[in-house]
Amino acid sequence: MLITPLLLRRMCLALPFYAGKTRGIFQDFGIPPSNAIVDVRAFNVVDLTSHKSSHKRPRLLFDLGVRKDPLNYPPAISAFFAAGIYSVPNDFKDVPELLKQGGIPLASISAVIWSHSHFDRIGDMSRFLNSTVLVVGPGTNNELYPEFPDGVLQASDFDGHTVHELNFDETNLTFSGLQAIDYFEDGSLYLLNTPGHLPGHLTLLARVTPSSFILLGGDSFHHPGQLRPRPHLQTHFPCPAHLLHATRSSISTDYFSSWGTHARAFDLQSRAEPLLTLSDLPNASVYADPARAKVSLDKIATLDADPDFLVLIAHDQSVAGGIPYFPASLNGWKESKWKEGLVWRFVEEDSPAFVFNAV
Ligand SMILES: [Zn+2]
Repeated sequence: MLITPLLLRRMCLALPFYAGKTRGIFQDFGIPPSNAIVDVRAFNVVDLTSHKSSHKRPRLLFDLGVRKDPLNYPPAISAFFAAGIYSVPNDFKDVPELLKQGGIPLASISAVIWSHSHFDRIGDMSRFLNSTVLVVGPGTNNELYPEFPDGVLQASDFDGHTVHELNFDETNLTFSGLQAIDYFEDGSLYLLNTPGHLPGHLTLLARVTPSSFILLGGDSFHHPGQLRPRPHLQTHFPCPAHLLHATRSSISTDYFSSWGTHARAFDLQSRAEPLLTLSDLPNASVYADPARAKVSLDKIATLDADPDFLVLIAHDQSVAGGIPYFPASLNGWKESKWKEGLVWRFVEEDSPAFVFNAV
């Protein structure tokens, strides 16, 4: 399980206002122009290089990963660790430890944003200073153990922190059909309403240059094959020829097809919908509301198809090794052409995300 907590820091570029004479394509999605940006860094929660920082700008964390002492989750979760179904490595360092090791004081973390309240996101809020605000989406589960014996949250997840539950009724911003809140009120960072996986599920849209963005999709979906391929994406990011060739035989035509597929040769190029769907099996889907999750996913897909947006989710194993971890910044993704290298990795047979063979 790959979980990628993210650190974000607000910055401001000394550039002329982007609106100027040229209109950015991002404006077609409803996103206003701005020169304010955030710096985005991803944590590999197993490995970290030492880093010193003297910046005093506000820092946010988007998700915290798993807590270090998982037996201290409420029983509904800790039972899985006690039974060995889930485990954390012996040398596991949680986000507060990684921050400390990286020279970032916990006092500089102004807020933790939970994409949602699953155990692999909430970490251990008791390890953060009371000055760190906890931001959650609307309708986030508030049934606490032990009052609710099956509760997956407990008082220590909230105690001492100001909890800010977002209200999307108060915003007029809508990007590609997704309600958006301008977190710093300067266009640098937006929180998007993407329910479906859980009530209150949030997605983060970070402006990393005046005209390019990183979308942190949390668990709005879990596998890149649920997002891709889509015709628009193939227009802007055509699948490389060698991969198109390899997928003719590596992707099973028993389960996957398109109008161009024939004689047991899969055709990715003519595939008009994603390879995988979001499960809607009753009581077996990881999506509390699969229909709403699909609506959120389809809207995110319009951004994924656009060259100005890099979409990252927490469980995408194909991303490992494709983006640099903290202390490197992700902000240069577009000029570094990382997206070109990432979007089709999941159909490479040696990618850990490859699941399309008949066996
Ligand atoms: Zn989840």
